[in-house]
Amino acid sequence: MAQEPKRFHEFMPDEVWKWKILEEKMDKVLALHDYQEIRLSVLQDYQVLHTGITALMQGAEADYAVQAVLSLSSPESNLSLLSLRPEGTISVLHHTARIINPGEVHRFYYSGPMFRKADTQQQMEFYQLGVELLGSESILSENEVISLGMKVCHGLGLKDVRLDMNSYGCSQCRVAFFADLRSYLEQHKDDYCKDCFRELYANPFSDTRCQDAECKHSFTSGPQISDYLCNTCKANFSKVKKIQANLGNSYKVNSHLYKNFAYYNETVFDFVVNHKGREIIVGGGGRYDYLSAQITGKKIPAVGFYLNLDILFEIMESRGLFRAPEQDFKVYLCSESENLEMMTLQIAQELHAQGIKTILSPEISTTAEEIKHAIHKACSVMLIIRDDNIREGKILLRNLVKEHQDYVSLKDTLPAILLARKALKHD
Ligand SMILES: [Zn+2]
Ligand SMILES: [Zn+2]
Repeated sequence: MAQEPKRFHEFMPDEVWKWKILEEKMDKVLALHDYQEIRLSVLQDYQVLHTGITALMQGAEADYAVQAVLSLSSPESNLSLLSLRPEGTISVLHHTARIINPGEVHRFYYSGPMFRKADTQQQMEFYQLGVELLGSESILSENEVISLGMKVCHGLGLKDVRLDMNSYGCSQCRVAFFADLRSYLEQHKDDYCKDCFRELYANPFSDTRCQDAECKHSFTSGPQISDYLCNTCKANFSKVKKIQANLGNSYKVNSHLYKNFAYYNETVFDFVVNHKGREIIVGGGGRYDYLSAQITGKKIPAVGFYLNLDILFEIMESRGLFRAPEQDFKVYLCSESENLEMMTLQIAQELHAQGIKTILSPEISTTAEEIKHAIHKACSVMLIIRDDNIREGKILLRNLVKEHQDYVSLKDTLPAILLARKALKHD
């Protein structure tokens, strides 16, 4: 039976350690480039979100753009509306608009779950990294962000990642493209599927992900933004391509590179990795200089990217890129009667003070059973605490790796364990 896709996330311990590795590797690269982490709320004000997503659209196309926002109550009601964040850029812009001074550049990143309304079978919660460089219009900042995305992927072990790039032009040169594409769409209405027609008409840059051959064909035969770029946009795009080539980042110009959000201008890009014989987009981004003025009233030029962490995780997993950390030295503690609880906890405390992990036996059982538990929990040493031994001032220490056991005096217990730890480290 085919496995149903996971709609929501629930990470169990056998996956959490891998997620931590992924996050650590990302953080390391981002810190090297002086990006500051911010933690955004998962809950967002629907109105703020709506204004942000639809900032550069009119009428029906705006309605279309927000239909995937997952809200806690219906937008038609007058109740205060909260939505689960579908992305983080809008919050970051509002935050930056409050703190930025003229001439300042801010570098932020955030990661965590994002949500979208989806049909029964589709994933509704997905993990994403978002990186934003705010306050700079320079080509350098664009190149910094694109290279950073490539470096994060390299840092995760995906050395074969490549770039797809396109330019969406500026507010001037894209006008003619939009007009021509819309009239082309009208002329070829019957060649498109109904949804694609509606979606592309609303947002000529939208990514329909359509698999229909005829629809795809009419889409690729239509007008392309690259033929409409003004001289400045053309020159800027050439510079970006040249710098990326010089940095050794392999790229392809894809004039059909489209995005779910319509707020981008000039350079847009995707990060592409081959996975199971297919080209997979693991993330992407672009410049979005017009968005902030529309939603915050402050002009903040910006460029950013996202990485889909669920997809990256899957690729890393399939390539065996998660190496389990070395097993910690752990001590298993079991006592043969309830009277010894206090002593057991005291010994545990002493071990914790030395940075040694302990596992306490949950109940009183036979020594043979306890040994089984301790081995199952990957402990190196176990302490078997018995009434009669304690009365004689000693304790049974069993080395599970070397498979031998010995009595040690109570006061020598800690030194004996430290010695065992040292010996096992050198093995
Ligand atoms: Zn232009
Ligand atoms: Zn279609």
